[in-house]
Amino acid sequence: QPAPVQTTSEAPASAALLERASVVIPGGVNSPVRAFRAVGGTPRFMASGSGPWLTDADGKRYVDLICSWGPMILGHAHPDVLAAVTEAAARGFSFGTPSENEVRLAEEIVARVEPVEQVRLVNSGTEATMSAIRLARGFTGRDVVVKFAGCYHGHVDALLASAGSGIATFALPDSAGVPRSSAGETIVLPYNDLPALEAAFAERGHEIAAVITEAAAGNMGVVPPTPEFTDGLRRVTAEHGALLVSDEVMTGFRCSAAGYYGLETAADAGDRRRTTGAPDLFTFGKVMGGGFPTAAFGGRADVMALLAPQGPVYQAGTLSGNPVASAAGLATLQGCTPEVYARLDVVSHAIADAVASELSAASVPHRIQWAGSMFSVFFREGAVSGYDDAKDQDTAAFRRFFHAMLGQGVHLPPSAFESWFVSAAHDDAAVDHVIAALPAAARAAA
Ligand code: PLP
Repeated sequence: QPAPVQTTSEAPASAALLERASVVIPGGVNSPVRAFRAVGGTPRFMASGSGPWLTDADGKRYVDLICSWGPMILGHAHPDVLAAVTEAAARGFSFGTPSENEVRLAEEIVARVEPVEQVRLVNSGTEATMSAIRLARGFTGRDVVVKFAGCYHGHVDALLASAGSGIATFALPDSAGVPRSSAGETIVLPYNDLPALEAAFAERGHEIAAVITEAAAGNMGVVPPTPEFTDGLRRVTAEHGALLVSDEVMTGFRCSAAGYYGLETAADAGDRRRTTGAPDLFTFGKVMGGGFPTAAFGGRADVMALLAPQGPVYQAGTLSGNPVASAAGLATLQGCTPEVYARLDVVSHAIADAVASELSAASVPHRIQWAGSMFSVFFREGAVSGYDDAKDQDTAAFRRFFHAMLGQGVHLPPSAFESWFVSAAHDDAAVDHVIAALPAAARAAA
């Protein structure tokens, strides 16, 4: 059954903007997943956002289930974040010198994630993972990096192999333009497969600088790690003197994925405890920037000590620790209270339960998976434990579902390989709006 692709007449202002954009921006978008390549039709150009709602260039409103791919955990234009940004901006946009807001943001991160003793602020998750890998290589004097199929760590050369959502959405094997030498230093292993990890270390352990993993995979849809896998990651890397890098760009401060390592979690920050078995390095982004371009990498102080200006590993940034972005991030993290996490749980479960029951009623095969309050819907039956499972789903059914939801004013991520994001600003009216759209969308998917 062909997917009913919406025509541009349903979003004329977006269509006109796409046409203009396509002249001056490749594909008309500044990040590929924003294009509707996988689902067809016209990507909606947004004019504004408020709380759980987005308004497009035609004035049509949508309940937002993308939330900027994670950062908007408090909803759009949250008053406290807006006030912090306005106040910071009025005092100047960027100084190129140190300033207090970046110190406060770093202190907040260190206070919230126990094993992180120091952080350095950067501008994107990609920069964070790139820098963490360089640091791990500098620390160990080794070159090889292990990553897992279906995990995305940004568009870093060495980490683009089998990189999940964006790549899967476009059915690319991997990216062109990555030097063989760079890809050659990367070992890609199946996620959740401890014997494969042990075998790789048995063979090349002395060459491996780091293993990087998403604390819970969210870029092939949500695939939580098994406890054995998480334990094994820490044990095997420690045995071989390699660093373990936990990429929490997506999970950090959202779904408490640090909990997978038995660590203090963002949600129970009041209940701090010392732990063992922590990863050596972490990367953060999304939520900690509150919608502004800021991210971080950090971890053990003895490893971080190798960074310039103290040590020999170079890393820098004109806008790193930007005072306005830091103010947004700080206000957002301060807003992440236990009540906020409780609301995220309520909202995500209300939506996911309704999705499951409507898809069941329409006899559409589906599987919903969770990491904390983060979830995704796979259009297939059976557990998804890795990338091959995730790719084995009915993407045509997803397309029909996606467009039926969009037409009714609910904006899902435009790919079957993405997690759905909610905010604490998703009030009952927004949740009810989503739930009311589901029966027709489930019938369209069938
Ligand atoms: N790491 C993970 C786990 C991510 O989900 C992402 C982005 O989605 C990145 C890294 C890259 O972050 P950015 O898009 O800010 O470069």
